[in-house]
Formats: sequence, C-alpha cells, structure tokens
Amino acid sequence: MYKEDIIAAIATPPGEGGVAIIRISGLDAEKIAAKIFAHAQGTNGQLKSHRLYHGDIHDPSSGRVYDEVLLTIMRKPRSYTAEDVVEIHCHGGAFLVRKILGLVLAHGARQAEPGEFTKRAFLNGRMDLSQAEAVLDLIRARTDKATELALTQASGELSKWIDQLREELLDILVQVEAAIDFPEEEIELLQRHILIRNVDELRQKLFDIINTYEWGRIFREGAKVCVCGRPNVGKSSLVNALLGEERVIVTPVPGTTRDVIEESINLDGLPVAIWDTAGICETDDPVERIGVNLSRQYLEKADAVLVVLDGSASITPEDEVVLRSAGTKKVIIAVNKNDLPRTIEVDAIGEFSHSNGTIYVSAKTTEGISELKKSLRALLLDSESEPLIVITNLRHKIALVRGEAALKRAMTTLGEGGAPEFIAVDLNEARESLEEVIGRVTNDNILERIFSHYCIGK
Ligand code: GDP
Repeated sequence: MYKEDIIAAIATPPGEGGVAIIRISGLDAEKIAAKIFAHAQGTNGQLKSHRLYHGDIHDPSSGRVYDEVLLTIMRKPRSYTAEDVVEIHCHGGAFLVRKILGLVLAHGARQAEPGEFTKRAFLNGRMDLSQAEAVLDLIRARTDKATELALTQASGELSKWIDQLREELLDILVQVEAAIDFPEEEIELLQRHILIRNVDELRQKLFDIINTYEWGRIFREGAKVCVCGRPNVGKSSLVNALLGEERVIVTPVPGTTRDVIEESINLDGLPVAIWDTAGICETDDPVERIGVNLSRQYLEKADAVLVVLDGSASITPEDEVVLRSAGTKKVIIAVNKNDLPRTIEVDAIGEFSHSNGTIYVSAKTTEGISELKKSLRALLLDSESEPLIVITNLRHKIALVRGEAALKRAMTTLGEGGAPEFIAVDLNEARESLEEVIGRVTNDNILERIFSHYCIGK
C-alpha cells in the first residue's frame, strides 16, 4: 500500500489553451479546495460530489483573486483514482496554470509523479495493470485502430479473457494438487490423458493470443512495405496507383528514382509506409550504387516486400536478383503493365515459391490495384479477419510466452508419468505469468517501470 497523501498536477498539455485542468487527488483533497476556492453562489460547505461549481480561485493569505474557474469534487470511490479528487478548470495560460498549481501545492498537496494518478487507480483496484497500461496506449495512439485497440483493453476485455484462462488453469491445478495431497490416488493413466488434452487446449489459446501481438504492433506502429524491382518496370507508377494520385515523378529513363521515396497509404484502416526504392540490381554507376545500397537497408527494415515485374517483357537476370534479395521476407509479386500483351514467362515466376502471391496489375489503367491492396493488407496482418482479443504490449507478450512454455513443460512431464509435484510447479508458473499481465502478482520495480512512461497529470 501507499501513503494516501494529496498529489496534484496540471493534467492538460503545456502551453496556451482555452482551458487547463489541475487535478488533485488524495485523502481530504477537498480541504485544499475549501481554502482557495470561493463558490460564486455561497459557501463551499455544501459542495456536492460530481457537480461543476463556478467561482474564484484566490490566495487566502493576500485575498488576491487568481482566476475565475469551474471546480468539481469527485468523492471516493467514484473517481479516477478511487480517492477524493478535485479538478480545477481554469483559463489555459501557461503562467496562470502554474500559479494556481503553486497555490494548491502551498496548501498541502505534493507534485504528482508521472502516471501517479493512474498508479493509484491501479493500487486501489479501480483497474488492473493491463487496463492501466491501455490508458497510456490510448494517449499515445496515432491511428484510429490503435485507439480502438487501446480502448478495448482499457475497458477490461483482455483482463476478462486472462481471468477466464486463469480459472481454467486453476481447475487443472486443483486436480494435480489433489494428487499431491492424496498420493494414494495417483493420477491415473486415463486421467493423465485428459489432463494433457486440457493443458494443451489452454496452451493453444495462449499461443493464438501471442500471435496477435504482431497484428497489434502493426496497427499501432503502421506497416512498412518496400517496393523493389529493376528500373523501368513501373515501380513509381504503381506507387502512384496505390496512392490514387500523381505523387512520384515518373520518367521513362531507367534508374531515375535514386533516392528512396516514402509515401503513406491507408489500407482499410491499416497505416502503411510505402518505400519506393531505386531497385536492387548490380550496377557500376557510383550514384546508382548509393541508391542500391539504400534499397537494401530499407528492404531489411520492411515488414513486406512488393516485387514489381514488367509483364510485357521477359524476366531478366536483374529481376531474378530482385526476387532473390527479398529473402525470407513476406513477398507479393506485382506483374505490372498488364494492359500490354503479356510476354513474361509465368512459370518462371512460380519458381520463386517463397512469394506469398502473384497479382497482375496495370499501374496505367489501375486494373488489379484494389486486389493488390487487399492482398497486401492480408499478408501484413497474416489474416483477413480481426482477432477477438489482441495484445499490443510487449510486457504481456513476454509473460504469455513464458506461460505457454511452462504449459508445454507440464504436458511433457504429464506424458512421461512425472510426479504431480513437478507438474504443479510448471502449472503454477503459467498461472503466475497470467497474473503478471493483469498485475495480480507484481513488484515495485515493474510498477515503477510501467508508470514512469506516463506523463505527469495522468
Ligand atoms: P520505375 O523505374 O520502375 O519506377 O518505373 P516508372 O514508374 O518510372 O515507369 C517506367 C515507364 O513504364 C514509364 O514510361 C511508365 O509510363 C511506364 N509504365 C508504368 N506502368 C505501366 C503500365 O501499367 N502500363 C504501361 N503500358 N506502361 C507503364
């Protein structure tokens, strides 16, 4: 537990704004309000919880009025921190807000640390750890989807799911622990089989959710796609077609796009950075070399590679270099210039079996562009449909990976006829890893690390 002293901070961003909010939380926080706030319509004694009051903030020692404000008191437990909370909504001048905060601090509050309000909400059981973390994700979200994912997590969906798995795990653990307590009732062979199946079902659920991390990460950070192809196959034209407007300068001279050009597209809510590269092929031209080296660097960083071929020409050794350089990355092959007679050797493309699909397009007529967009999206997300629960936090992923590994060990021990004591150790580790996600088991270091990333006032 912590000492419930009174903390205060400016909750709105620094700088000028129409309104700024100062947040105060802690036992008897309203005592401070009573000292520095004068309700426009009478005494402060009757201030009700969850109402907005109009009045003045003044310095009681000098009587000087600082600002005309709106003030609200939210008595515990119906507040963000589950403590008594006071909010002062004042005019949003940077100097003015600091002066009012100074007054609040002079009357018994202490400056809040980063994330301390949310930390108190967690410590008071208002939210679990995964929900508290989602609050930060919500503040930091840069895309519509990231906002949606953070909100779902903040509303406790992930916690509910974790709780459910934990219950299932406890059911199994009870049986194993009964075998420890009553050794004469050894886990029968048949029962072992059932236990293995149950543990495996649980393990599979963990495995599935661990795999949604990549899905969540890509939605949060946006995906990166590298467009590669020998000069003149129509990379820039294709990027333009994907963008839906003329952005990249297209020229008929091979090798003129030497720098890497970044463009952003939105694939049905998925933000994607498209890197149009100079192409990856051998060249003696020193300037082109720079471009080629640059392309390779971008290729390394990309989540997927879009290889562009010219469908109206034969495959060249340069094309093969490009196809091979995609290596183990996710690859889509776009065979461009489909408006012209097709002369490319279709079978030869098929040899590059690591490719995740071949789509015939025309940057000129935009034929096949929407199909290409769809395939690209599905490839980046590894699926077309959205998983029900998505994890977006690396800490959660690490804990769940540990849990899954522990369940695997428990299955092995069960299969080998090992003692229930050993099985229980692994099952308990899996339980702890689930509890870590929602913060049932935690320590000060973890909390410190999590909440230090927050802004002051949250
Ligand atoms: P890059 O060097 O790979 O970026 O290729 P560009 O986009 O600069 O295109 C090279 C040439 O191919 C230009 O003359 C384009 O007009 C032409 N081109 C690109 N896409 C198509 C297409 O789909 N059909 C036809 N007929 N020409 C295209």
